[in-house]
Amino acid sequence: FPKTIQDEATRKTAGDACFSKISSAELGYFTDGYSKFFTKNKRKMMPLINRGTWTRVFSVRTLVNNFLSKFPTDKIQIVSLGAGFDCNFFYYQENVLEFNERDLHYFEVDFEDITAQKIDIIKQHSELEELIFKDAEPSYEEGMIQTERYTLLSCDIRQVDDLEDKLVQVGLDKTIPTLVLTECVLCYMNSEDSSQIIAKIAEMFADVAIVNFEMINPNDPFGTTMVENLEARGCQLLGLKDVPDESAQVARMVDNGFQNGYCENMLRIHNSKLDETERSRIERIEMFDEFEEWDLLQSHYCICVGSKFSDSSELGF
Ligand code: SAM
Repeated sequence: FPKTIQDEATRKTAGDACFSKISSAELGYFTDGYSKFFTKNKRKMMPLINRGTWTRVFSVRTLVNNFLSKFPTDKIQIVSLGAGFDCNFFYYQENVLEFNERDLHYFEVDFEDITAQKIDIIKQHSELEELIFKDAEPSYEEGMIQTERYTLLSCDIRQVDDLEDKLVQVGLDKTIPTLVLTECVLCYMNSEDSSQIIAKIAEMFADVAIVNFEMINPNDPFGTTMVENLEARGCQLLGLKDVPDESAQVARMVDNGFQNGYCENMLRIHNSKLDETERSRIERIEMFDEFEEWDLLQSHYCICVGSKFSDSSELGF
């Protein structure tokens, strides 16, 4: 795959994800002490965006917690594809006992330059090194980090055989329960590529689920404006054409080897699937009167779960 303008623009989205997380974490929507290390620019986001970022982060964390509880004793793996500058590994390692004390491995994969930037930033912050290396002396291999619990490596995830080889080389175990995360990643590639990635994951593991967060409904006026805004920055949501809505999301999972697929838009997840106490806590953080826009915005994002677990609903949502 030669580097394209689209790929360049896609890489830049790693930084965008950080802005929103820093803004909402600083206001107390959720705990994230580390995204701030990954960008020099800071922006206070609108309440609408902060609340939406909470919904996204809290939902993914809820599904990860559900995965931990579903396999309380087995060795497990979490694989984040297109992990960018996501700091959830640091959050779980520091704050979630069920994670910290578990026999598990967390893999993060992104393009070579994003992985290199992430490694550089980790090297500059002993807080991050301590969470990765614990008491051991930090050690870095060429272009990657590898410890007993955490691996950060580079790969263009569209090269699915290469992805499999690289992951297996660094210790991925195809026989244990595995959760794969693709958060705001698949929508940037065409649907042939995203389908191949999903099919590869379904084929690789016996016991696996994938959690995919991304935009949907590009064709109504609100969706069109969102797509145009991204395109103005050179970033096309190539996948949305063929996977435009919830049923297409589910079909992509089921057609590519997952036994079960289900999809909810983020408005329904926010309104009826998340912890009520947490929801009422965050509703008091900022004045909020953008209700109409909120409903519209949230219904343009979804989480789709594909699962080969015997009962996929156990993962939640
Ligand atoms: N998942 C992270 C999060 O939620 O914070 C980052 C999301 S960011 C919007 C999208 C990420 O996907 C970027 O870091 C980009 O480099 C990565 N990405 C997109 N296409 C990729 C590909 N073909 N191979 C590897 N990484 C890719």
